[in-house]
Amino acid sequence: MTDDKQLADTPPGFHLLAKPSGSTCNIDCTYCFFLSKEALYPEEKHRMTEATLEAYIRQLLEAHRVPEVIVAWQGGEPTLMKLEFFEHAVAVVEKYRQPHQNVQHTFQTNGLLLDDDWCVFFKKHHFLVGLSVDGPRELHNTYRLDRRGKGTFDLVMRGWECLRRHEVEFNILCTVNAANEKHGRAVYRFFRDELGAKWVQFIPIIERATEQTIQIANRGWSEQPGQKRLFYTQTGNLVTERTVGALQYGQFLIDVFEEWVRRDVGRVYVQLFDVTLEAFFGRHLLCIHAPTCGYGPALEHNGDLYSCDHFVEPKHLLGNIHQTHMLKLVASPEQRKFGNDKRDTLTRQCQSCKVRNWCNGGCPKDRFALSQDGEPGQNYLCAGFEKFFMHTGPTFNVMAQLFNQGHAPADVMETVTALDARRGPYAPCPCGSGKKFRFCHGDNAPASNFTGISPKRGGASDVAVNLG
Ligand code: SF4
Ligand code: SF4
Repeated sequence: MTDDKQLADTPPGFHLLAKPSGSTCNIDCTYCFFLSKEALYPEEKHRMTEATLEAYIRQLLEAHRVPEVIVAWQGGEPTLMKLEFFEHAVAVVEKYRQPHQNVQHTFQTNGLLLDDDWCVFFKKHHFLVGLSVDGPRELHNTYRLDRRGKGTFDLVMRGWECLRRHEVEFNILCTVNAANEKHGRAVYRFFRDELGAKWVQFIPIIERATEQTIQIANRGWSEQPGQKRLFYTQTGNLVTERTVGALQYGQFLIDVFEEWVRRDVGRVYVQLFDVTLEAFFGRHLLCIHAPTCGYGPALEHNGDLYSCDHFVEPKHLLGNIHQTHMLKLVASPEQRKFGNDKRDTLTRQCQSCKVRNWCNGGCPKDRFALSQDGEPGQNYLCAGFEKFFMHTGPTFNVMAQLFNQGHAPADVMETVTALDARRGPYAPCPCGSGKKFRFCHGDNAPASNFTGISPKRGGASDVAVNLG
């Protein structure tokens, strides 16, 4: 495997997501189609064995020719594997790590099972923990439900408190869906002000369905009484009621951006904003907006390796790491084609788009709409991407110029403040809400309508939430 000629054709590094408990989860979020992936392995206990763990870590470290290696755990819910599994995983990393390799452990969790033991472990081994929260209580509890249909917010906040108590580095992973899409600013401020988040990532919820499956899909992806569970695949050009609207997604991001660019540049890292700025320097940090992809494979509990976490389905199975070294699978012609298709199948509309260099057509899984001239394969979120990149592009341009002149990109906040002063507080807010700036993204912005961490602290708990 380490033959020089073979290595020349392989990627120097990649970002593998390992699912040690498969897609098994201890909660039942309505929009989570990953739950249905259990059906791929109906006869198996969805737990990674020691032999698979050992093969995975050894091959991952062997495969990397760059010093930075990320060992990323997610699910399903990885805490279902128990702490001993990850203690062993860290020991296996130390066994195979080359002296020049720096390993960053990451761990995505719904937070429900986090306790002192978990957090002491995370802190000791410098884990970066991703916590899934969809915003304040009312918004989070719309879709992130337990098996009895009860909102999980309070339990997640208990996990968050534990992370904070032990000073574990965490980021917030927030889905943008039909319930929170109109509340970008409130959601972001909740993460920043109440959770003390320094890293935030927004992921659009897009659940595809066909004429045949849309009704069942609208009810969710978990087991339903008297109904055979649907197996989710990336097919169909309909979307569920929980799916974020394209323009609403763009507006949500703008709403966050207008808050961030006045107060938080260099202080809070919003993944898409970082990625957009980096694109000015020719670096594409996020597969979704990179010209090509294919360096983010997903590893199932039994060693099966798939092209991507979003394509864990039979036709995208690359092979099993017990039979073939993962580097060979990642560098295989099938996987290279998978990644290059992202660029090679761009519609004419994308090819001539003004924001193509930032957007690159988005993720292929979402390319099921028609372009303006009727060509299939347009991204469902196109209108939102365009809105966001057109709106923010000039500001990111200023940030890139500041950097090139030896200044901090955060200095852009002074430029934005000066422009605000020139326009005046009663001019329309630049976010496009139609409200006066002062009462929208300005200094007299109203407090959030949503309850805070504790219902007693954050505001009216009986607030009416418009989820429409
Ligand atoms: S298919 Fe989408 S999520 Fe998967 S690697 Fe490509 S761009 Fe990334
Ligand atoms: S904004 Fe739309 S047209 Fe432009 S690159 Fe993105 S998906 Fe393509």
